[in-house]
Amino acid sequence: MARVRFSRVSKKYGNTEALRDFNLTVEDGEFVTLLGPSGCGKTTALRILAGLIQPTNGEIFFDDLNLTTESAAKRDIGMVFQAYSLFPNLTARENMEFGLRARKLSTLEVMNRVNELMEVTGLSEHREKYPHQLSGGQQQRVALVRALAIRPRVLLLDEPLSALDAQVRVQIREEVRRLQREFGITTIFVTHDQEEAMSISDRVGIMEKGELLQIDQPRKLYDNPEHTFVARFFGKVNAIEVQPISSQRVRLWNKEFDTSSNSTRRGIATKSWALVRPEAIVESKEGEGAPGLIQEISFLGPITEIQVLVGKSDLITMTTSSNAVANRKIGDRIWVKVDAKELFVEVE
Ligand code: ATP
Repeated sequence: MARVRFSRVSKKYGNTEALRDFNLTVEDGEFVTLLGPSGCGKTTALRILAGLIQPTNGEIFFDDLNLTTESAAKRDIGMVFQAYSLFPNLTARENMEFGLRARKLSTLEVMNRVNELMEVTGLSEHREKYPHQLSGGQQQRVALVRALAIRPRVLLLDEPLSALDAQVRVQIREEVRRLQREFGITTIFVTHDQEEAMSISDRVGIMEKGELLQIDQPRKLYDNPEHTFVARFFGKVNAIEVQPISSQRVRLWNKEFDTSSNSTRRGIATKSWALVRPEAIVESKEGEGAPGLIQEISFLGPITEIQVLVGKSDLITMTTSSNAVANRKIGDRIWVKVDAKELFVEVE
């Protein structure tokens, strides 16, 4: 196991800056997810860590050892990719044993390690099948066992679940997390699925255009975004127009809010938007907050999502677990307010 560190890493492809001054430390045994839109540099970061490509600038450390120029083979990394990438002419068992045989371990050791992992991933009965005879989920489990069997210092997972259907995705992501905890293995997981990132990570790093904007525990990232991009990308938000009152206060639906501590506001804006989570909008007493008309009601099990047209143009989404609100009908009038101490304000 290892603590890994990117120090001021950048990567240029011609004019494209795939990574820009990228700094990240992943602690020994930690599970960190890199989350961001397509093309933001997630895969580039993993490939540089794995030694598959060289950075244009910057350094890579494993514990305190500088491995920037070390070959991929010497880094002891297990990788699982989006495409199943199994050897089609080898059985599931042979695929799982591949890395161990390449390392010239004894037959007994190879058997023991693979058998143990097959057991915990439920693959034992499929061991003699070829990849084309396995489901997508089973193939990804084989790829995961192959990566773990070598007992790598670091496990890198590049969108390993994206080709799977929703139910299998959830099952396998829970398995990945359980195995990662059991083995205490330092893991970096790449995805553009925010729910996936929220559910399994110790910390999530949000990337945009080659930069790591913010990294924190999922809950903290959700509650305290430091960038509008993070607020918008990690969890749902409503963007509602506000009237600035002073450099640190805005008015939204007849109520003033302090924006001093988490705002990106600089000076007084002429027009800005408050970013408000759906669960921070609640029903209020008549005359308090703002009146609206219910446009859409979606029952989602434990919560109900309601779209409300507030005033002339604010179409907002609120979520509630209250039956009183959830039992309303489309076209009903409702008074709503923002139930938050502070707002995240974005200046145009
Ligand atoms: P996705 O979620 O779509 O896989 P990503 O966040 O993993 O995206 P990267 O694959 O790291 O993004 O790519 C980052 C940027 O670098 C992109 O603009 C991409 O086009 C560019 N890029 C990546 N590899 C190369 C390459 N070999 N040659 C030129 N440009 C590249």
